[in-house]
Amino acid sequence: MARVTSPLTTALAQLSSAVEILGYSPGLHEILATPRREMHVAVPLRRDSGEIVLHRGYRVQHNISRGPGKGGLRYAAGVDIDEVRALAMWMTWKCAVVDVPYGGAKGGVAIDPREYSSAELERVTRRYTSEIMPIIGPERDIMAPDIGTDEQTMAWVMDTYSVNQGYTIPGVTTGKPLPVGGSLGRATATGRGVVHAAAAALADDGVDLSEVRAAVQGFGKVGSHAAHWLHEAGTRVVAVTDVDGGTRNDDGLDVAALLAHVATGAPVSTFEGGSAVSNDEIFGLDVDLLIPAAVEGVLDADTASSVKARWVVEGANGPTTPEGDRVLADRGIVVVPDILANAGGVVVSYFEWVQANQAYWWTAEEIADRLAQRMHAAYASVSETARDQSLSLRDAALAIGVRRVAEAHQIRGLYP
Ligand code: GLU
Repeated sequence: MARVTSPLTTALAQLSSAVEILGYSPGLHEILATPRREMHVAVPLRRDSGEIVLHRGYRVQHNISRGPGKGGLRYAAGVDIDEVRALAMWMTWKCAVVDVPYGGAKGGVAIDPREYSSAELERVTRRYTSEIMPIIGPERDIMAPDIGTDEQTMAWVMDTYSVNQGYTIPGVTTGKPLPVGGSLGRATATGRGVVHAAAAALADDGVDLSEVRAAVQGFGKVGSHAAHWLHEAGTRVVAVTDVDGGTRNDDGLDVAALLAHVATGAPVSTFEGGSAVSNDEIFGLDVDLLIPAAVEGVLDADTASSVKARWVVEGANGPTTPEGDRVLADRGIVVVPDILANAGGVVVSYFEWVQANQAYWWTAEEIADRLAQRMHAAYASVSETARDQSLSLRDAALAIGVRRVAEAHQIRGLYP
């Protein structure tokens, strides 16, 4: 399905809205809108069959004023430079909103990982890493998993970088496997953070997670863990989808059984504990809480007008277009924006990087407590700004993130 509003159009429209609220000059606006540095690379691959194919790869460092670039690496067939630019910009505001000392970056390779063997993906990852080697590093730009990549991908990136430097440098990636410097709690952190954000938004209206029904669109690294933590909090999770469709059960899905089903490699739609639901239908279900946790642009004016939920908490990056946002706002639906709601991943990435750099590891409990504290503190400042200035949560989060980045620019001054 062709996207009507591209992620970059959405990201730039959101920035314009923040710049207007903050009253910044056109010059500062342009600096904030423009990636600081980007690299386009060719990634040739020898397939297992011997055939040679070429994939395009990108790494965009949108902003590095508050610290090194930080952000995921996406493998998907449709990845292009504009999508990576948008995702890198969202990382900049996200890191600033949760006040971790990073700028924003993102990488992507235009490849559908489901069509390639693990050996082929290893070769793609190592070649891509070696092409972008000059601009990455624990003090320059730190990678993490995103759609289509995982802990193993991060281990290959870390290994390729380390072998070329001549010693082990675990701080060049986060989201690594535990035996090579990963952090406890990183794999579940984004989903867990989404649930903290949802709990905080509901609490603003005096509602507890145990009183609501939820639908989760996307059942990957974000959606599956969000569903798990929602279930733990007593929420009735009534529908879940992945790319192939989904399952619904109005009495509440058995989330543990669904996770076990998916762990066998089966799609959500073949789960026997529910009836079929499509990715189009899930947005219009009669639920209180809707969590888009897949890709960009799914909540446009059309889908937004079918939403019955009272709260939308964005697990994905950029799931709502500006038109969708307006429809949701007009209908009084509260949207907890991506740069706040899904920041739990990068918060625990930061913890992983700190632990790796110090070679000293924290307990699962310390990580869970610090994540909860950061998410609730970030939510509280966004919600307070929204109330004080009569802004949506999205505009308040953007205003805080953009202001912190602009402040760093201004304090550092312009060189030369
Ligand atoms: N890819 C994730 C995101 O979009 C995680 C980024 C990170 O941990 O650096 O937030």
